[in-house]
Formats: sequence, C-alpha cells, structure tokens
Amino acid sequence: MDEAQVQQCARNFISDLEIKDVRDDLSVYVKAANAKVVKEELGKGESGYTITKPNGKHVITVNSLEPEERQRFTICHEIAHIELKLPSSHEEVPSWSYAKRHINEVMCDIFAAELLMPYVQWRALVPKTEPSLDVLEYMASQFRTSFPAAASRYANLADVPCAYVTMERGAIRYAARSTLLRKVGAWIAPKSPIPPGSVAHRLREGGVSQVDTGEVAQDIWFENWDKGLDLSELARHYAKSDTTVALLWFSEEDLPEVETTRFGARVVEDDGLSELTGELTWPGRNRRR
Ligand SMILES: [Zn+2]
Repeated sequence: MDEAQVQQCARNFISDLEIKDVRDDLSVYVKAANAKVVKEELGKGESGYTITKPNGKHVITVNSLEPEERQRFTICHEIAHIELKLPSSHEEVPSWSYAKRHINEVMCDIFAAELLMPYVQWRALVPKTEPSLDVLEYMASQFRTSFPAAASRYANLADVPCAYVTMERGAIRYAARSTLLRKVGAWIAPKSPIPPGSVAHRLREGGVSQVDTGEVAQDIWFENWDKGLDLSELARHYAKSDTTVALLWFSEEDLPEVETTRFGARVVEDDGLSELTGELTWPGRNRRR
C-alpha cells in the first residue's frame, strides 16, 4: 500500500461522514470505526494502543498525560490501524518523526493527517497569503494539531512549489512535497545531512530552539537542480529533541525549465498523487461497505 492509496482510503472513510465538527470532536470518526476511546495514564512515550474485543468493537486507549493535540493525533492514528488493517509496531518516537519508524506507522500517520485536517476544510481555511510562521501556527490552532503536522499538511496541499522537510540529529528524515514539486521531480534525499547554506543548517548550528526565515538557492535543497534560482525557507529548530523542520517554497515562475525529452536529465516521478491538485476522486454513491 502506497501513500496515494492510503490517502484515498482515508478520503473514502470520511466521505459519508458529517465532519463539520471534527476540529472539536472526533467522535464521528470513532463511531464510524466501531470503536470507543478510553483515556488512561500510560508510560512516558507511549501514546496509545487498540484492543479489539471478541464482538468486533475496538477500544482505543490514549495517554491522558500527553497534550490534547497529541491525543487527537493518536486517536486518528489508531483508527488508521483499524481501517487499514495494519498491525502496530510502536516505538518511542514522536508522531511526526520518521526516524526508524515502521512503514505501517508512517502510513497510519498519513491516514491520520487526512482525518485531522480534512482536505476540503483545509482548503477553505488556509490563508491565500505567502506561508509564514503565523500562517502555520494559525492552521495548527484551527485544526488543533501540532506545528509539524500542520506544516507537513501545508506543503502537501500547497498550490505553489512547496516542500516540508523533517530532520533529526542533523540528517534529513522525510520530505513532503506539493503536487507541482512532485511533478517536476524535485527530490530531497533522505538520510543526507542538512545542507550547509540552508536556514535549517544555520539554526541547528546555533544549538538553541529558534525559528527564522530566509532566501536560499534552490539547488541547496534539491538534488540535480538548476542553479541561479532562489526559494524561501522557514526553518524551526527544537534543541531538546535535536529536531529541525523546514518549509520551502517559491513561486511557480521560479520553477526551472524541466527537460521534456525522454532522455531528460531530471526524471519526472509518477507517484500517483496527482489527485491532490483539487480534482479529487471522491467516491460516488456506490461506495462498498
Ligand atoms: Zn501505530
């Protein structure tokens, strides 16, 4: 199961539900998954788990000691395990961290993001201005989710070329890209070091938690990229967990011209996610139950 299929599953799951209140109350999802939520004080780093009773009812236990935004993410993540029928392999890593996480867990996080920040509501609420710390914090507060979860969603659904990069201990873990960047094959290699010259690199060198925005060359971030083009980078460093995140964006006019011959230098990926352009393939009335 790939990212696009997981996204489609999540959209099928919510398509028949009344989701207008989900920013306050996730019970419509819980009910649809034939589950109930129990809050308990669990161990540090343990976010939650699900037990299925003999009658088929699922009991989702979430750690009441974690922040509310985290509990909301956990509930949606556990619903993903139920709906995608993917077994858990939980480790002590934050939800938005991709380090050493099992692929099933990453897929459940993608499903959870679709539930927590539904596409249609996101599009209606996202400011049409340039991205900024304020915009990302506004969206995080609107959907009662974490800053990294909102920033990742922002990049995923942006109309402009946009990417969101998660870095840990100085190495790139994961990059979410907008449709346009995926179409032109913009690639940020996982496991490579945070590129020198980037805002993220500078903030991490500083060693304290901080946020900054700056202009950097596009080829600092993207592999095999044209020179002479700039992008905006908003980076945030979390010193305690040695985690750095960066939102990268530029206007469509600043896209390099992509080779169109079949021997073109840049390989255009087809990762099947083009439905995120807005022409969604919502399921019709013939949805299987
Ligand atoms: Zn899980």
